Amino acid sequence: MNLVRHFIDGQEHQAAAERTGKITNPASGEVTAEVAFATVAEVDLAVAAARKAFQQWRHSSLSKRSTVLFAFRELVARHADDLARTLTLEHGKVLSDARGEVQRGLEVVEFACGIPQLLKGDYSQGVSHLVDSYSIRQPLGVVAGITPFNFPAMVPMWMYPLAIACGNTFVLKPSEKNPSTTQLIAQLFNEAGLPPGVFNVVHGDKVAVDRLIEHPDVAAVSFVGSTPIAKYVFENGTRNSKRVQALAGAKNHMIVLPDADMELAADSVVNAAYGSAGERCMAISVLVTVGEAGDRLMPLIKERIADVKVGDGLEGSSDMGPLVTKEHLDKVTSYVAKGVDEGAELAVDGRAVTVDGRPNGFYLGPCLFDRVTPSMTIYQDEIFGPVLCTVRVATYEEAMDLLRHNQWANGVAIFTNDGGAARKFQTEVEVGMVGVNVPIPVPMAYHSFGGWKESLFGEMHVHGMEGVRFYTRAKAVTVRWPDPSQRGKNLGFPTQK
Ligand code: NAD
Repeated sequence: MNLVRHFIDGQEHQAAAERTGKITNPASGEVTAEVAFATVAEVDLAVAAARKAFQQWRHSSLSKRSTVLFAFRELVARHADDLARTLTLEHGKVLSDARGEVQRGLEVVEFACGIPQLLKGDYSQGVSHLVDSYSIRQPLGVVAGITPFNFPAMVPMWMYPLAIACGNTFVLKPSEKNPSTTQLIAQLFNEAGLPPGVFNVVHGDKVAVDRLIEHPDVAAVSFVGSTPIAKYVFENGTRNSKRVQALAGAKNHMIVLPDADMELAADSVVNAAYGSAGERCMAISVLVTVGEAGDRLMPLIKERIADVKVGDGLEGSSDMGPLVTKEHLDKVTSYVAKGVDEGAELAVDGRAVTVDGRPNGFYLGPCLFDRVTPSMTIYQDEIFGPVLCTVRVATYEEAMDLLRHNQWANGVAIFTNDGGAARKFQTEVEVGMVGVNVPIPVPMAYHSFGGWKESLFGEMHVHGMEGVRFYTRAKAVTVRWPDPSQRGKNLGFPTQK
């Protein structure tokens, strides 16, 4: 059986794996490969390779870095279909969605290609007599990325293009559930001319993560995943004096006001709740209908759900693929049962779905709950599957109250034709990413991505200028060229003259 290996210092790590994990095709339930789980010594090897490479890479010219990134951009674009197919085979999402994920990741590579412009410093001439001053940003050193299963291509691309462009070297620990996309990426970096050791990959579990967040030679950690692990990585990483950004879980609400375009709102909520089988951190998982919007919207949503075709993600006819693992399918299904027990109205039950020729795949059809209340578990927990909870409220203020009391604050959307209401909403809502008649407001690479509250631990979002700031630190230089007029005794604190 094929073994997915670590990638250290420009090559696959050939040593026999002490521990491995299984990789499963969620569409068929078949085990297709194994992945090596790194030991502490293997993580140390990757960090050592990255540390050694940093000594050279930090001094590489900005044009050398952008030349490599441009070449990498071309290679990723040329291999977009291979990357998409690889990730569909291990994640389950439909191919068109996988291609979209690669495309959105590529946009960060394109942003990073502009590093000569992004890293320009500030210069002040004559801050004092014959004194000039300038500010520059320098790389941190070895940076680690730890990423989740749900975007095996895009989420790592939020991190390494900018980290590397800023002059750092990188060690990535992707999800053990779908690691093969990253192997292809590592090969493409080699082909693009990135020096060995600048981009390394270690696979594995808690052992690898724990070593990365305690390793004295790792300067910063970017993490994306569930809230408990994000909190753990943030607390332990910062305790070990690392700079940490940890993007976490979500429960994104979509508010529909009575004046909204109901056809558009129905299309949008179905696309955003069931796309990628709900396994998106920006998926809509709670629909909040205000006033009469609920009665008008429900039949339109049911009509559209009836049209969603569940199947193998490689089949062009499928709209929605399987869930990532059997364990995750069982967990999501148990939430559906819990919702029924707690008294929510299961308006559409996807549990009986079957897919021809795929009896062992991890499939669940779209599930729609109506009349959910905030005290129910299905409202409070992140389910991360194709389960949409509808909460009916009477007023805009009640909808805002729900958001105020929600622990997560990743994305949110409002649907309305009232510009004043939309403006009021975007100003007062305490959520990191806001959509107005846009259900999944994922910012472009030149803006930053990140939530508030329990959806982000740390100061800075990913990509955009926030990403440049995260992967660099500031230095201010004050310069005076010797001049006889500066001589003489003066023990006072330097002030401007
Ligand atoms: P996860 O937290 O289980 O895993 C994320 C990473 O942490 C993986 O690399 C995994 O190997 C590692 N990990 C898991 N358990 C660990 C432990 N006990 N100790 C140390 N490391 C551990 O997340 P997941 O299930 O892969 O991904 C889904 C989650 O990610 C959802 O909660 C989703 O909302 C979140 N997510 C958030 C964003 C965002 O931008 N906020 C984006 C994508 C996904």
